[in-house]
Amino acid sequence: MRILLIEDEHKLANAIKRALELQKYAVDVAYEGEDGLILAIGEEAYDLIISDIMLPGIDGIELCQKIRQEGIHTPVLMLTAKGQIQDKVAGLDGGADDYMVKPFSFDELFARVRALIRRPKGERDPVLSIGDLYLDPISFKVTRAGEPIELSTREFALVEYLMRNPNKVHSKEQLIAHVWDYDANVLPGTVEVHIKNIRDKLDTPFPNKLIHTVRGFGYEMRDKS
Ligand code: CA
Repeated sequence: MRILLIEDEHKLANAIKRALELQKYAVDVAYEGEDGLILAIGEEAYDLIISDIMLPGIDGIELCQKIRQEGIHTPVLMLTAKGQIQDKVAGLDGGADDYMVKPFSFDELFARVRALIRRPKGERDPVLSIGDLYLDPISFKVTRAGEPIELSTREFALVEYLMRNPNKVHSKEQLIAHVWDYDANVLPGTVEVHIKNIRDKLDTPFPNKLIHTVRGFGYEMRDKS
């Protein structure tokens, strides 16, 4: 799951980014409204946008309106300073989906993030499955044939992405774009190492393989059985 965070207080932005990354999200940060807008309407689709309202240049409300005008329906969570109730009203009118008043606890933030990411999926079962592999994006539990599988943050993000987009070959570059941060300097070899580690955990101990290498192209998650 990829999140865009737009917040001009660097310390707060970096703290939120780190906290969300520990929760296994990939997070890109923009410290100005303008930069945030460029990323939000750019090629890389986000699963959620978190934006402060008071930003230099374009403010959060204007940013949200512009994103919606571009036909982007990514959920937007607004951050606002305490007592700025007008902000709340304007933010929700501008197309935001939820708001939080600063200061907030990270636990509250995580709960809002989970709810917003879940929301557009409608009635779809939030637990992903391929064959006997199950992944719960809400509780972060992964099991195969009923056995719990322990994955690192990045491994989890990779498996989740492959499970959300099964029966399709993904190049290493595509995987990097969806699973690592925008500014991370990740080489294709890193993806290979992660895929190998994932296979050791959730494919090698089991008779049928779910992750398939398509030579020269990339990787695919598929249940052959
Ligand atoms: Ca601000």
